[in-house]
Amino acid sequence: AAKSCGRGNFQFFSAEMNAATHERLLLENRLWQALEQDEFELFLQAQIDLRSGAVIGAEALLRWHHPELGMVGPDRFIPIAEESGLILPLGDWALRRAVQLLDRWRGLGLGHLRLAVNLSARQCHGTGLLPLLDRLLRETGIDPALLELEITETAAMQDPERSRELLQQLRARGIKVAIDDFGTGYSSLSYLKLFELDRIKIDRGFVKDIETDPDDAAIVSATIGLAHALGLEVIAEGVETQAQADFLRGKRCDEAQGYLFARPVTVAEFEMLASAAETV
Ligand code: C2E
Ligand code: MG
Ligand code: MG
Ligand code: MG
Repeated sequence: AAKSCGRGNFQFFSAEMNAATHERLLLENRLWQALEQDEFELFLQAQIDLRSGAVIGAEALLRWHHPELGMVGPDRFIPIAEESGLILPLGDWALRRAVQLLDRWRGLGLGHLRLAVNLSARQCHGTGLLPLLDRLLRETGIDPALLELEITETAAMQDPERSRELLQQLRARGIKVAIDDFGTGYSSLSYLKLFELDRIKIDRGFVKDIETDPDDAAIVSATIGLAHALGLEVIAEGVETQAQADFLRGKRCDEAQGYLFARPVTVAEFEMLASAAETV
């Protein structure tokens, strides 16, 4: 019985693996070409001030329009891009596009909006990031404080000393820095002392059950208190219900992002949404 069961499992897993490997190959094969052929797009998800309800900015989230697979989300291609090294030119592309948008918004009466861009571990630990940012800031003259860079604690802790140096260099230029997916990295809180930061993003895994799980409620509430005590702002991600937003507002969380307010949408849709919010 053990033997046939084992064989059954083997067949099951190998069928699964073939599907996964097939998709991976489809993605991998086209990944480099995709950048040249302009198949990537930045979607924008609104970030909301919890006190006033105003849209204060957005997070830029990569999407890939794959010719065979359709719209592909970053969880499916960022890991492959990381391994293959494409994440460096792709990350540069995302930053260039984001700074262009900030530049464009000045002319649309949306010049107060902040834009957050995710950085990968390889971008953080390479040498190209600061020269690129300097060039983009010089070429456009945008206010660096409107650009925020998000780094996961896992990426930052891969090389804490280099990360400390990078974050300090970013903040010396007036660029904002946020720690993404806060609380998921199994790292010690002492890095909060080591790094210069502006904001902590509470991972949506803690937000999901704040109404029903007293442990999650305690963690979120304590994180907001800790951040404020350290002079940092807090944004909660993955806010899907009014009750979650009310809880967070009650705990003095500064900002929120999630499907309750807006899904990630195209640039044009976000600009309409933000302009409409302006005229209310
Ligand atoms: P992240 O930076 O933590 O981004 C938040 C993710 O949560 C996004 O997924 C967003 O669509 C999703 N989300 C937002 N609100 C809600 C909600 O209310 N409920 C639920 N269930 N989900 C929500 P997305 O767009 O699939 O991005 C996944 C991850 O891919 C991002 O996580 C980020 O780590 C990475 N990523 C996206 N764009 C880039 C990029 O330009 N560069 C790098 N290096 N990574 C990126
Ligand atoms: Mg992020
Ligand atoms: Mg996150
Ligand atoms: Mg995440």
